[in-house]
Amino acid sequence: MGKIGAVIVAGGTGTRMGGTTSKQYLELGGKPVLVHTLELFQSIQEVETIVLTVKPGDEERCAHLLQQYNITNVHAIVPGGKERQHSVFAGLQALPDTMEWVMVHDAVRPFVAVKHIRACMDKAQETGAAVLAVRVKDTIKVVDETGRIEATPERQSLWAIQTPQAFRLSSLMAAHRQAELSGFTGTDDAMLMERAGHTVHVVEGSYNNIKLTTPDDLLWAGWFLDQAKKEGEQ
Ligand code: C5P
Repeated sequence: MGKIGAVIVAGGTGTRMGGTTSKQYLELGGKPVLVHTLELFQSIQEVETIVLTVKPGDEERCAHLLQQYNITNVHAIVPGGKERQHSVFAGLQALPDTMEWVMVHDAVRPFVAVKHIRACMDKAQETGAAVLAVRVKDTIKVVDETGRIEATPERQSLWAIQTPQAFRLSSLMAAHRQAELSGFTGTDDAMLMERAGHTVHVVEGSYNNIKLTTPDDLLWAGWFLDQAKKEGEQ
């Protein structure tokens, strides 16, 4: 099926969390969030290698964390860019070109289930491109700058998109190059693939796979980790 590499992006500043520590370094159950995510990907045998993208200047700090927590599957730590898209592109370029497939994942999503990571990869290998997603529970409105509702898209067809997102490496690289050339910035990688003419499929994941963004999320995360631990002890 071809080799699989992963790009874990941890190059954000996480200002919405408040405080001075970026959210990928916040401690959860005694370990930085980033370490939880790396341990998860390291535990998946099919993932041959991982590239970690960090904030420029954080390379040494992360190299120490890898040593401290015995993360041995990270092949390169590379400086990220201004937007998430630039960080992903930097990571892709550092993957060995023997990789046929790539999974891009946010470091701040430590709760993705292994079975969903596998399901996403399987779907990508079957169709070329797949992303984890959940059905939207709320009614979503399109609103203009003055606060006036312009449209209500049919909820049935709305999905909230998560990571990992899995693609053929050469296709994603080409989509990123194309976006860079035209100065286009998207909010996820699927968007760049769609723009380049590829069909991307969703794979239904879990609402637990949250992106740690605000202090509330961290409270929930602590509770979730405790529950998972208790279930493991039963
Ligand atoms: O920006 P957002 O909160 O959506 O971040 C999602 C992921 O992308 C985080 O893991 C963050 O560290 C990463 N990111 C990055 N480089 C940026 C901005 C965000 O690697 N310039």
